[in-house]
Amino acid sequence: MDMEKIERLQQMVDDSDRIVFFGGAGVSTESGIPDFRSVDGLYNQKYDYPPEQILSHTFFMTRPEEFYRFYYDKIMVNGVEPNAAHKKLAEMEAAGKLTAVVTQNIDGLHQAAGSKKVLEVHGGVTRNYCMKCKKFYDGAFIMEQKAAGVPIPKCPDCGGTIKPDVVLYEEGLDQEVLSESIEHISRADMLIVGGTSLVVYPAAGLIDYFRGKYLVLINKSATARDSQADLVITDPIGEVLSQIKC
Ligand code: ZN
Repeated sequence: MDMEKIERLQQMVDDSDRIVFFGGAGVSTESGIPDFRSVDGLYNQKYDYPPEQILSHTFFMTRPEEFYRFYYDKIMVNGVEPNAAHKKLAEMEAAGKLTAVVTQNIDGLHQAAGSKKVLEVHGGVTRNYCMKCKKFYDGAFIMEQKAAGVPIPKCPDCGGTIKPDVVLYEEGLDQEVLSESIEHISRADMLIVGGTSLVVYPAAGLIDYFRGKYLVLINKSATARDSQADLVITDPIGEVLSQIKC
């Protein structure tokens, strides 16, 4: 770990009080969740269909049972816990330093760590809704269905099929979440980008709205925006953030 860089990061955090964190898959891989797009990740594992087809709107509508088989198995994973990065970000929010976490991840680990303002640009597993009556169900409800071996979760009220509120392939991003994210990023005095190589658009384009003092990139490999950043750190994000005091 480059302690000089950690010290510089600490100074920037001390000098900021409207920090926004923007995170990608790398934040969750330290909790044992595979990076969907990495070489060893979900996308190279063997299934009857490629994961990007299973996780598409058409597939959900036409083969919900196969969708849920994959979803239970690979997305609603048992025993996944927030890591040091999630915990530190929740601490920074509680200390009044951080205004929002904007995340591309759907796993709900920021909320599990205690973060209140979490903007999930790709939706999240903690919200599920009945396609017929629009009633919402939490992640625990889906876990119960998984444990009970229910092939397709149905609404106890009306019997409608329950759909996870995650952005599937062929679906657009939630515009309300996007505009709120832009609002937070454009007002931030510091933007910490972590665990993303910043190649997935339109989410990655969000950082163009940043006008503050410090842009910090924490990622194990080089990102598309390294030259723009005030500080680039290539150590694991949990290890980096756990060094920071707030
Ligand atoms: Zn219903």
